[in-house]
Amino acid sequence: MKKEISRDLLLDGIPYVLKDNISTHNIYTTASSRMLQDYLPLYDAHVVQLLKQSGACLIGKASMDELGMGSTNMTALTGPVYNPWDIRRIAGGSSGGCAAIVASGLVPFAIGSDTGDSIRRPAGFCGIVGMKPTWGRISRYGLIPYATSLDTLGAMTRSVKDMAIVLEKIAGHDQHDMTSSRVEVPQYKQCLSLDISNLKIAVIRNVYERLEDTRIKDIFKSCVSLLKKSGATIYEIDFPENYLQVLYPVYHIIANGEATSHHACLDGIKYGFQDKGKTIEELIVNTRTHGFHPHTKQRFILGALALKQENQNKMFRKAQKVRRLIVEEVQKIFRDYDIIIVPNGEGIAPLVDEAQDLSHTIVDDFLIMANLAGIPSLTLPCGFVDGMPVAIGIMGRCFDEQTVLNCAYALESQMPYRHQYAKGESTYV
Ligand code: GLN
Repeated sequence: MKKEISRDLLLDGIPYVLKDNISTHNIYTTASSRMLQDYLPLYDAHVVQLLKQSGACLIGKASMDELGMGSTNMTALTGPVYNPWDIRRIAGGSSGGCAAIVASGLVPFAIGSDTGDSIRRPAGFCGIVGMKPTWGRISRYGLIPYATSLDTLGAMTRSVKDMAIVLEKIAGHDQHDMTSSRVEVPQYKQCLSLDISNLKIAVIRNVYERLEDTRIKDIFKSCVSLLKKSGATIYEIDFPENYLQVLYPVYHIIANGEATSHHACLDGIKYGFQDKGKTIEELIVNTRTHGFHPHTKQRFILGALALKQENQNKMFRKAQKVRRLIVEEVQKIFRDYDIIIVPNGEGIAPLVDEAQDLSHTIVDDFLIMANLAGIPSLTLPCGFVDGMPVAIGIMGRCFDEQTVLNCAYALESQMPYRHQYAKGESTYV
């Protein structure tokens, strides 16, 4: 069902960019893969249709890690993406192009995708707002998948109010995506409120206490104080330690298992890049060998291993079972609390040379929780360390994006630097 043309015209004439895994009719959509470098979609993704109806103007497709697999945006087909706050540093990935463009002030919003942290990690590194809503909140029709049980479209903006405006335009049911929800879309912008006095906020103690950089820890604590000052009630709770330890392996097995299956079709026969070979088998092997980045091939090897018949029970299915247990823990938290807050990862954007082996700490991994559980999660810039942005992660109940937005709005309103963005002292409202 098509959405009615919006009357508020808030996005009319507003420029934006799309991550290059979102299909655009007759505009190249490569997902940053050599395999898809000549792919011209025959249709627009549902989000693109909705944004067109809203009058927003697409001005470009943004760089990303191949097929969304990565956190650095250093392996993109079109070359690395640097951080506009300090070009010796990475922008983060996989929606790194979108983050850098929004942080530079070139466009007020971008649409990205998030399978594990791909909107929120680059948003945090680049000092902008990033949100992955509930799984099913936005139609994924036209999104080149990474892992469908985790993939979510979302937005990157420079303020919470902008996020509310954009989310309202792109959320909702779509008959072309049976996983898109029929839950009514609230008027996020109109319902924005600074009054969070009823909120019960859970701080995950055994995550934030792991932060090694005391400056980042202090910034996180000052956010907690500001929320308290706004009237919210803060509770410190622990997440079961055994589950924290396995977050990344569970995610990695599921994400790469699904990705291996989704992309088995990229073989040079049906469509896309094709290499030579004397036999069909040789052609497929050569195509996949030369069509994917080594980093992506590693992921497929892991995925194939986890899906192999003799390994399935002890790898893929086991990861699915543990995912269920983790999700139940998250649901338990939301029986008592409205919001979970955590640091948005361990540190500031790494220097390019140090980014190849981006470490995975439990603080970083906690962002994955939102994808495993399908809950909404927003990244809000909340301070600076060494001149680089630092952020906080705010998560809420499924389909309760409004509470997440309100909590972020209340916190943002108390940030002294909320009108500052990369490359200068410029202001925006
Ligand atoms: N960094 C994670 C990965 O590489 C998440 C990527 C994403 O969210 N698309 O799997």
